[in-house]
Amino acid sequence: MRSLPRHTKVIATIGPATESREMLKKLIESHVDVFRINMAHADHDWVKTISQRIRDVGTELNREPAIMMDVKGPEIRTGYLHNEVNLKEDDLLDLIFEAQPSPPITGEIWQIEVNYDRLPEHIKSGNTILLDNGLIPLLVLDSSPEKIRCQVKQDATLKSRRHVNLPGIETGLPSLTGKDRKDSLVGIESTHDYFALSFTRDADSIDLFRSFLRENGSDAQIIAKIEDQKGVQNIEEIIKASDALMVARGDLGIECAFEDLPIIQRKTVGSCLAGGKPVIIATHMLESMIESPVPTRAEVSDVANAVNEGADCIMLSGETTTGKYPIECVQMLNRISSRLEEEIQPGLTEELKLFRPKAKMLRSAAMLAMRMENSAVLVFTRSGDLAAKLGALRPNGAPLFAFTDVDGLHRRLRLIWGIEPFLIDFSNDPEITIQVAIKKLLEEEWVHHGDHLITVTNVFAHDKVVESIQIREVTN
Ligand code: PEP
Repeated sequence: MRSLPRHTKVIATIGPATESREMLKKLIESHVDVFRINMAHADHDWVKTISQRIRDVGTELNREPAIMMDVKGPEIRTGYLHNEVNLKEDDLLDLIFEAQPSPPITGEIWQIEVNYDRLPEHIKSGNTILLDNGLIPLLVLDSSPEKIRCQVKQDATLKSRRHVNLPGIETGLPSLTGKDRKDSLVGIESTHDYFALSFTRDADSIDLFRSFLRENGSDAQIIAKIEDQKGVQNIEEIIKASDALMVARGDLGIECAFEDLPIIQRKTVGSCLAGGKPVIIATHMLESMIESPVPTRAEVSDVANAVNEGADCIMLSGETTTGKYPIECVQMLNRISSRLEEEIQPGLTEELKLFRPKAKMLRSAAMLAMRMENSAVLVFTRSGDLAAKLGALRPNGAPLFAFTDVDGLHRRLRLIWGIEPFLIDFSNDPEITIQVAIKKLLEEEWVHHGDHLITVTNVFAHDKVVESIQIREVTN
């Protein structure tokens, strides 16, 4: 039995450092499972080109990764600046709502554009506004419809188009902006498998986005990005409404207290495991490797911690978009996660609630596969649910092979912990489908003569279909 390189999946964000065919090939060969396209930085032509390129390289290598479009959601940013601005502590700065000719200063007061003109309705004096991922704190002195006057609290340099964060403040922004809709239409055209919704605050925003996707002919799944206090408060309803979650630690670390971040991460992973929904840990996993060929020891521990907590996926952002060592970063995640997984005691998630009889049988199948040498679990799925539940059980050590006849689902399943997905034709006769699956596993050298496959499948008993768990010995 060939073992999987690791059970924990890896997501790489694509950017200038990785957009070439050669780099995509190396990333797929290094077992990247999902490619992320971040719409904060991508234009539509690039999205179409890069999506096609990922598909082509995946087909060529017979390992098709999923593609995730990360839509920006209700994001507030500062405007374009011709030149960087050197801010000094106690400087006065007006946030305004029209693009400013350069330089962005009137008299002694900086004039900085932000892209949301209804912001003053939600801001009052005494509030804190954070620019550039929290690096530039501003104290609000006064808020009027024309401008928000602030005092700079720390020396800093402001560059173009920086993030604006408003910890604990409701902004009244729609969950899906006009830009999100336009971007998503391009993602739909490029058959993206996942859409990640930034700043998901409640279940309604997921439902709205799902309706938009379905109305426009996409069956893609939705990843809720948890990145502010509201999202954390509504975590349970968001888990139910979405297909997967992302703990987006970049913004979350600005919107919430730093010391709360590991606790939010741990609780979110636990709730997702109990709900059978995949969960991604994102941002700053190997941040120092943007510049350095080796990670810090703290980063190694952070990655190991995410794996140990039971995350389905770990995600790279700047490391693979503009970093100097993108392939080394993926290899580093492979090394850390596979090593840590060796240490995790085999066991099944006790909290996972399984309702359908067939899903309940998975627990027994997974247990058998963990206990028997050279064995794996084999499932057949059209909705993906059986594979998602199997992964959520976390049968550590046993390969999990999922077969589907739904084009696209075979890519989406790459997000799920431990699942190795395959696309085949299903027959009306379950036995023929099983034989086709085993033949494929043999051909691709996943299994060998004498290995065992534990399968949860339908069989005909006279003219009735019954669900069964079977142990199949592989024969050449
Ligand atoms: C994050 O904030 O951690 C994140 C993944 O989102 P973005 O990269 O869009 O800021």
